Amino acid sequence: MNQYDAPVSPDISVDAVKAYVTEALPHMKTADIDIKDIVFEQRNELLCFYCARYNAKWTCPPRIPKADYKAIFKEYQHALFLYHDQLIDDDYEKSRVDSSVILHRALLDVEAFLLKNGNAVRLSFIGGSCKLCKNGCTPDKCANPYLARIPLEATGVNIIKSAETAGVPIVFPATSFIRRIGIILW
Ligand code: SF4
Repeated sequence: MNQYDAPVSPDISVDAVKAYVTEALPHMKTADIDIKDIVFEQRNELLCFYCARYNAKWTCPPRIPKADYKAIFKEYQHALFLYHDQLIDDDYEKSRVDSSVILHRALLDVEAFLLKNGNAVRLSFIGGSCKLCKNGCTPDKCANPYLARIPLEATGVNIIKSAETAGVPIVFPATSFIRRIGIILW
């Protein structure tokens, strides 16, 4: 029996996950979002195409599964935005990388909490490209396949519109701080 044949996952409430974040990840904030209110747009494929990370990261397009992500999201019962604000200091590049890795590690932490509580199919999507490897992606295959995650925007989600629905404004361009936002599904 593998994890997908396991009995149906127990329902873990949104409040239970939020309480875990408050206790274990006090530097992170959460925002409720109904899965049906997440906005998907096809133009994200083109926006990704014109990004420097296109075809450069193992978890960025066109290297990610050609899946119907909207349908995948609908297979989940719950979604929760996880985000934090990182002040931009003199070293913008460092702020950019740090903010992304902090979010990524927090999402993996929440995934671990859900798994520990019996949800084997929990899944998170990060904000911005995967930056777990300090020197960029390894050439032949992902160095951390169990930890690397796909950017939420790469699934076709319009994050600005979706986060606004959840009461989280995201302003571009980021000048004084970077708001990094990802999502956890379970
Ligand atoms: S874990 Fe490393 S190799 Fe894998 S996608 Fe992230 S940065 Fe690239």
